[in-house]
Amino acid sequence: MRVALMVGNWKMHKTSAEAVSLVEGLKPYLAPLKDLEVVVCPPFTALAAAARAVAGTSIGLGAQNLYWEKEGAFTGEVSAPMLAELGCRYVIVGHSERRQHFGETDEIVQRKARAAVTVGLRPIVCIGESLRERDAGTTFDVLEAQVKGSLRGLSGDSGLVVAYEPVWAIGTGRTATPAQAQEAHAFVRKLLEGLLSPAAAAATRILYGGSVKPDNVRDLMAQPDLDGALVGGASLDPNSFGKIVRFRG
Ligand code: PEP
Repeated sequence: MRVALMVGNWKMHKTSAEAVSLVEGLKPYLAPLKDLEVVVCPPFTALAAAARAVAGTSIGLGAQNLYWEKEGAFTGEVSAPMLAELGCRYVIVGHSERRQHFGETDEIVQRKARAAVTVGLRPIVCIGESLRERDAGTTFDVLEAQVKGSLRGLSGDSGLVVAYEPVWAIGTGRTATPAQAQEAHAFVRKLLEGLLSPAAAAATRILYGGSVKPDNVRDLMAQPDLDGALVGGASLDPNSFGKIVRFRG
């Protein structure tokens, strides 16, 4: 069984003090939650404070990025061992904003994902087509190239999580319909069967991301291949993320 996973991607929002108050605001929504994992991904600067705030709760911690070398002359970068030491369990890799604004390619994404796995961090590898690609009818070609390129070298026991995030739905208020999301997720799972193994594909969680809100999460989560959500904007407010986390009622 795949345990549902709700991840809050705070992007470049929240100071350390604000991170603590967001976590405090989330706590009332947590108990008793069964068969559900909740993870927050603050910016690097707020990770230590957030780690203290989530200690003793069921909230897990994730980072939003990493560099693939362990250490060295890479000014401004942060490595996988540094994140693991802070208590991170997850790290988002290849978010479309990083692909778009920072030139991250599938080659870079797979290096980062493999670096995460070497220290026991679970990579949340993001893929997704642009509006132009969807309109051109190339969605599945794009997804296939991203899956094969970004997950190269990962094995079935890596703790991998895949996030399908159609770029046209991120931060736009425009959500993929549950049917569109399911179609993409089923396609990705089929690819994982060939790339990893049928058992690993069945065990891998595939999250949906793109304007997930309290009022659309239930219909999305009703799809058989949707195993959770990667939530941006709506994760910045404890009450809206709390309602998403409690989508079952
Ligand atoms: C994201 O940041 O991954 C995301 C899906 O953002 P939003 O929920 O704001 O669309």
